[in-house]
Amino acid sequence: MASEVTPRPYRQQWRRWRRLNRLHFLVFFLPLITCLFPGYNRFPKNVVEVLLAIWLLAVAAIGMVTIHFFACPRCGRAFFHWPIPGNRCRHCGLRVYEGA
Ligand SMILES: [Zn+2]
Repeated sequence: MASEVTPRPYRQQWRRWRRLNRLHFLVFFLPLITCLFPGYNRFPKNVVEVLLAIWLLAVAAIGMVTIHFFACPRCGRAFFHWPIPGNRCRHCGLRVYEGA
């Protein structure tokens, strides 16, 4: 009985993208998570402003790496297109997680 092997040529690229996507999701909701802890509102206002600025920059940076700079595993060109990411490469038609 021959075993069938499923080709997964882009597995590593999709794994990296999934990790970045999850990190982006986590960082995006981080301020809401901190509200669950007692004493979160005791920080001085200027500290909160600095933390929010850092949070905003982190969300933007991770989002850029995850969406804007992600190269298509097949053709190597930009996979997603701002502002509507879509679920397939506009250049070669590769779907998200295809070949993963
Ligand atoms: Zn492509």
